Amino acid sequence: MKRVAVFGATGSIGSSTLDVIARHPDRFRAEVLSANAQVDSLLRLCAQFRPSLAIINDAQHLRALQDGLRDLDLSTRAEAGPDALVQAAQQSDIDIVVAAIVGAAGLPSTLAAARAGKRLLLANKESIVVAGALLMHAVKEGGGELIPIDSEHNALFQCLPAPALGRAASTEIRRLVLTASGGPFRGWRRDRLAAVTPQQACAHPRWQMGQKISVDSATLMNKGLEVIEAHWLFGAAPERIDVVVHPQSIIHSLVDYVDGSMLAQLGTPDMRTALAYGLAWPDRIDAGVAPLDLLQLARLDFEAPDREAFPCLDLAYQALRHGPSATTVLNAANETAVSGFLQGQLRFLAIADHVQHMLEQFSREQASTLEDLLELDRRVRLEPHTHH
Ligand code: NAD
Ligand code: MG
Repeated sequence: MKRVAVFGATGSIGSSTLDVIARHPDRFRAEVLSANAQVDSLLRLCAQFRPSLAIINDAQHLRALQDGLRDLDLSTRAEAGPDALVQAAQQSDIDIVVAAIVGAAGLPSTLAAARAGKRLLLANKESIVVAGALLMHAVKEGGGELIPIDSEHNALFQCLPAPALGRAASTEIRRLVLTASGGPFRGWRRDRLAAVTPQQACAHPRWQMGQKISVDSATLMNKGLEVIEAHWLFGAAPERIDVVVHPQSIIHSLVDYVDGSMLAQLGTPDMRTALAYGLAWPDRIDAGVAPLDLLQLARLDFEAPDREAFPCLDLAYQALRHGPSATTVLNAANETAVSGFLQGQLRFLAIADHVQHMLEQFSREQASTLEDLLELDRRVRLEPHTHH
């Protein structure tokens, strides 16, 4: 029996994880569940999964969580705050930590799980964008495993020979090809993007996801973050990571080998495939995902990304070439801009403008330790949006 801590249990990835766990009560037990501030959703999950510990990030809600657990007659303990997540990630009875918090807020608990030698199922891509070198080092030192959950990286992990992490630095691999759906505005010209609303941006054609990653998919920043993620996970230089738009989202990514072979992983777009793979690896288990019907699909299309309409992709490549300070600035600026856009304070096109402006303003930073990166992240978040 593997004991699982699900950080960000109330989110899109969290609920997909729990769906897979519920299909395999003989193999997995949800031992720790966490949420930011959604007490009612967290309580519903506690009633269903009976974890030993529930963590609410926002301490204002601790009382409500405790009262709710008592009303449900559960023996689940309640804790609050980011430190509780870090403690839980190190708990000796936990085998698997699912990092499904959104944003750099997930970094401390993700790093703690890596250091403690857990099997880390990494969905929280912002943590590897901010602290890629530190995270990969922590995985090595901790002696545990990292299995990427982002569908592209999970595909690459499946298509690379074991051990997959760091593998793309080898001369047998020509390049990694990340596929992108293109998001809800694929094919739109820049002028048409000026007036798009959060609702339009969050209506992703292929995936049901949290709001932040949905906006990132619409700007193509999501693919930019994934290029950075692929660099750290697999050791590929930026010029050996390509992005191709594939609107059907059936091929999740490809490895291009020097002998002319290209290996791809295909599947119905459903995150439960990657989560089941990560939970059971190296075994394969039922994920509840519909099998692909090739004849019904009939065709797969590919096109180049529109780098002018969606400048965030190249901003991410640029930050990656610049170094860890720049990727931290890119991520923090993007998080605040996306949040401003979702609150109606910022236009869609201002997201990229703000990120570019912050990259310029903070271009001389040289942070590399965790403390310095977190301090830089904090300073970027304090900067006002000058583009609206
Ligand atoms: P979501 O918004 O649906 O869920 C986020 C979860 O994190 C919620 O449980 C929320 O309560 C919690 N949370 C939010 N802020 C927090 C904070 N400050 N401290 C602690 N907990 C906090 O997001 P999601 O779509 O599930 O995405 C989660 C992560 O997985 C993101 O990094 C995203 O990029 C990545 N990811 C998601 C998908 C997907 O299909 N949804 C695919 C690939 C990667
Ligand atoms: Mg992805």
